[in-house]
Amino acid sequence: MLIDTFGRRAVDLRVSLTDRCNLRCTYCMPEEGLQWLPKPQLLSDEEIVRLVRIAVTLLGVTEVRFTGGEPLLRPGLVGIVAACAALDPRPELSLTTNALGLARTAEALRAAGLDRVNVSLDTLDPAVFHTLTRRNRLPDVIAGLAAAEAAGLRPVKINTVLMRGVNDHEAADLLAWCLDRGYELRFIEQMPLDAQHGWDRDSMVSAEEILARLGERFALTPEPDGRRGAAPAERWYVDGRTGADGRPARVGVIASVTRPFCRACDRTRLTADGQVRNCLFATGETDLRTALREGADDEAVAALWRAAMWGKKAGAGIDSPDFAQPERPMSAIGG
Ligand code: SAM
Ligand code: SF4
Repeated sequence: MLIDTFGRRAVDLRVSLTDRCNLRCTYCMPEEGLQWLPKPQLLSDEEIVRLVRIAVTLLGVTEVRFTGGEPLLRPGLVGIVAACAALDPRPELSLTTNALGLARTAEALRAAGLDRVNVSLDTLDPAVFHTLTRRNRLPDVIAGLAAAEAAGLRPVKINTVLMRGVNDHEAADLLAWCLDRGYELRFIEQMPLDAQHGWDRDSMVSAEEILARLGERFALTPEPDGRRGAAPAERWYVDGRTGADGRPARVGVIASVTRPFCRACDRTRLTADGQVRNCLFATGETDLRTALREGADDEAVAALWRAAMWGKKAGAGIDSPDFAQPERPMSAIGG
C-alpha cells in the first residue's frame, strides 16, 4: 500500500503522458510554450504500463487518470489504455484532456477500455476562448465533448478555471449549458502552478465568489458531507434539475486554495519522465525511471514508490507565509 505518516492511503494515480500541449492557457503556460522534455527522458509506453502494473498489483492503486500536458498528443495513448485495462485487478481508467482531437479518438479510447473523461472548458465564447487559450479551437472542444458522450465515456465531466475579468461572468451560463447536455461541471480555483509564476491570490476567483455567482441564477443545496470522501470537489445539488443519470444534477467546486482537501488526499503522481510526486505542490521527486532502466525488479521499484509517499507533507500550504511554488509547472507535473 502507499501510505503516509498521516495515515492517508493513495489509491488514485495520475499519470502524465507528455508535457507538451496544443493550447496555451494563460493560467498554465506562456504564449511561446515551454522547453519540452527531451524524448530520451520520457518513459516509453512499455515503461508506463509496467509502472501502472506495479501500482495496481503491488501498491493498491485502484484508479488511474491519464493527463499531461495534453495526453491526446501521445501517439501510443490507445495502446496504453488497452494495456492498463487488461491488468488484474483492472483499475478505473479516465483521461483529463482539452478535447482537441477527441472527436476522432473517443470511440477507439472507449473500445480500449477508457471509462470516463474530464474535459477542460473555460468559456462558451469563441473570442474569450482565444484570449484564454491563445488558439481558436472552441468548436473542436465542443465536438470532442459530444463524441465522448456518444461513445459512452460517461459521466462527461467539465473542468473550468475562472479568471477575474476574463470569463468569471460566464459561471452561470456554463452551468446552464452543461445541465442542458448532461455534463457534470466542476469549477477549479486557480492555483499557483503556472510556468510564468503570474498567480496572485487577490485576483483568484474564490469558491465563495463562484457560488455567489451561481446563486444569482440557481438554487443550490450542499450535498451531505459524507458523500465527498476523498473527492476534491465539494458538490451542490442544482435544485429542480436532473443529471444524465436521472439523479439530481450536481455542480462541484474544487477549492484547492481557500478550502484545501489535503487531509483526505488519496493521490500519487507520476510525471512523463518517470518521477513520483507525492503532491502537486511537492518540492521533491523520486526517480523511478533510472531504477527501471538500471534493471530494478518490480519489488524494488515498489519500495521506492512507497518511500516517496511515506514522506508526503500534511498539506500543500498555499496560504502559509513560507509557501514556495514548485519548480515544475502544472503541465509538466500532470494536472
Ligand atoms: N491539457 C489537459 C487539460 O487541460 O485538461 C490536461 C492537463 S491540465 C494541466 C489539467 C487541468 O489542470 C485542467 O483542467 C486545467 O484547467 C487545470 N489547470 C491548469 N493550470 C491550472 C492552474 N494554474 N490552476 C488551476 N487549474 C489549472
Ligand atoms: Fe494545455 Fe491543459 Fe495547460 Fe491548457 S491547461 S495549456 S490545455 S496543459
